[in-house]
Amino acid sequence: MMMTDRRDERDIPATVLVVEDEPRLARLVETLLTSIGHRVLTAADGQTAIDLAAAEPLDLIVLDLLLPGSVDGFTVCERVREFSAVPIIMLTARTLEAEKLRGFAVGADDYITKPFSARELLARVRAVLRRSQRSESSPGQIVVHDLVIDLASYSVSLGGKEINLTPTEYRLLLMLARHPDQVVTHAELLTEVWGPDYRDEIAYLRTYIRYLRQKLEPDASNPRYIKLRQGIGYYLSTEG
Ligand code: CA
Repeated sequence: MMMTDRRDERDIPATVLVVEDEPRLARLVETLLTSIGHRVLTAADGQTAIDLAAAEPLDLIVLDLLLPGSVDGFTVCERVREFSAVPIIMLTARTLEAEKLRGFAVGADDYITKPFSARELLARVRAVLRRSQRSESSPGQIVVHDLVIDLASYSVSLGGKEINLTPTEYRLLLMLARHPDQVVTHAELLTEVWGPDYRDEIAYLRTYIRYLRQKLEPDASNPRYIKLRQGIGYYLSTEG
């Protein structure tokens, strides 16, 4: 699990909260992340994790789903999302689709299934951090109809009313809004928003398109903004 070639993995140092009740695994994840320059905080239960997330400026949370006591990973995710848009990667021993979708629904950005390799962990962490760091660079606004995306503050409003999006929802919307009326393929969206390893994960994309529509569309079953080009991809319509 430990050894991997890390020579070309220069990352921008980030502060990562690792929430894991198995001490051996927590130490291993901590060692891996500190070895590539990140600062790591650890919590062995859900309540400590929520308290730390509220007290510390974090760049990422790696969150075990099954935690001792009454506060599990889903609850941590849900509570942290009440005050923070920090990226969250969930660790789960199971790969149930229903569990994944529940995690996304409460605001997780990605999943790693146990047991995982060092390489996989580092790749996912890097992908999630790059996504959030990349979306921090371009000022200005994108306006489509009454939809306004403010790139400096990452805020989205519709008809003057602010819409709360998770970081992944925001990036997906941004990708569509940068090329209004142009179909962006499933693979392009997955590669840009989630990373090259995800280009075939259509279920991720469908799930997030559904969340975006629920938040943006006056009638989610008859979308006005986010339209599907069957078998190809999605586009943001300026026709309305
Ligand atoms: Ca656990």
